[in-house]
Amino acid sequence: MKHNFGAGPGILPQEVLKQSAEAVINFNGTGLSILEISHRSKEFEAVLDEAVALVKELFEVPEGYSVLFLQGGASTQFAMVPYNLLGDGQKAAYLESGVWANKALKEAKFFGEVAVVASSKEANFTFIPKDYEIPADAAYFHVTSNNTIYGTQLHQFPKSPVPMVCDMSSDIFSRKINVADFGLIYAGAQKNMGPAGVTLVIVKNEILGQIERKIPAMLNYKVQIEGGSMYNTPPVFAIYVSMLTLNWIKAKGGVEAIEQDNIAKSRALYAEIERNPFFKPVAATEDRSHMNVCFVMENPDNEKAFLKLCDEKGIVGIKGHRSVGGFRASIYNALPITSVHVLIEAMQEFAEKNK
Ligand code: PMP
Repeated sequence: MKHNFGAGPGILPQEVLKQSAEAVINFNGTGLSILEISHRSKEFEAVLDEAVALVKELFEVPEGYSVLFLQGGASTQFAMVPYNLLGDGQKAAYLESGVWANKALKEAKFFGEVAVVASSKEANFTFIPKDYEIPADAAYFHVTSNNTIYGTQLHQFPKSPVPMVCDMSSDIFSRKINVADFGLIYAGAQKNMGPAGVTLVIVKNEILGQIERKIPAMLNYKVQIEGGSMYNTPPVFAIYVSMLTLNWIKAKGGVEAIEQDNIAKSRALYAEIERNPFFKPVAATEDRSHMNVCFVMENPDNEKAFLKLCDEKGIVGIKGHRSVGGFRASIYNALPITSVHVLIEAMQEFAEKNK
C-alpha cells in the first residue's frame, strides 16, 4: 500500500477511484463509458447539476453567486481574473505570498496597474505578510489562501474594501469559509476536489460586466455563466470525478468535519517535526499550512537516507519543491491519518537508527 503525500495531482479517496473506474466501463448502467457519452445527454447534465449543487451546499454559497467548472487550470484564472475585472487605467492589488501569487500578478500586469500590497519574497515566502493596506480604489484584491510550495496558509482572511479574489487551489474544501467575503474564488481541482483538467470558479455575479473590454468567449465569465459551464465541451470525466469527491466530502460530514481531520493530521505531524531532533519546520509557526507540511533536516546530508526509508515504507511524493528543499508532506482531504502515522513512525525510526 502506498501513502500518497504528493502535492498535486494529489490523493483521491479510494471509493471515488473505484466508482470512477467502473464508470469508465459502464456509466450508471447506460452501457456506455463516461468517456463516450454526450455532454448534452441528460445523464451528464445530471452530473454537472449535482456537482454545482454540492459546491453550493458544502460552502453554503449565497444567492447572487455562480458556480463554474472551467478548463485551463488555475493558471488560466491568473489571466481570466484581470481580463474580466481590471479595466484599462485601473489598478489591482495583490498579496505576494509565493510563486503562484507572483505568477498571478504578472498576468494582471498585461491588463492594468498592479499594486503589490506586501511581499515575503525576501524571506523565500516562509511567512504570510500582514499589516498592509488594501487600496480602496483597486478593482479587486487578490490573495492565495494556501501556498503549496512553502507550506504557509492564510488562517484569517483580511477584510477587504474591494472585492477579494482568492486562489484556493491547494486548500479548497479543506475548511469552512464564508463565500460572501469573496468576489471570486478559483481552484484547480487536482488537490482536494478531483483530477486535473477542471477548475472551479465561484463568482459574485455583480462584479462582472463592470469594465469596457471585448473578451474572447472562452475567457469571459459571463459567457461561461450563460452557457452553464457548457459553452464548449466541458471536461466530462474530470467533472464526474469531482462530483464523486464532493459527495465523499459530504458523506464525511462536510467541510467542517474534514477541517477537524485536517487539523488533527497537521498537528500530529508538526508535533513530531518539533520534537524530533533530526527535523525542523520551514514555515513561520502562526502561518503553517494544514495542507502542505514543509520540513528540512538539521543535517541535509541525511535527506537522501530518509527519502530511501520513506520509499521502503511506501511513502511517496514527499520530496520538497526544489525552491525550498527538504520535504513536503501534502496531507490533503483524502489522505487518512493512518498515513500520517506511518510517516511519523518513519521519522522516529530514522532518529532511533542514527542517534
Ligand atoms: N495556484 C496554486 C496555489 C497552486 O498550488 C497551483 C498548482 N500547484 C496553481 C495555482 C497552478 O494550478 P494549475 O496547474 O491548475 O494551473
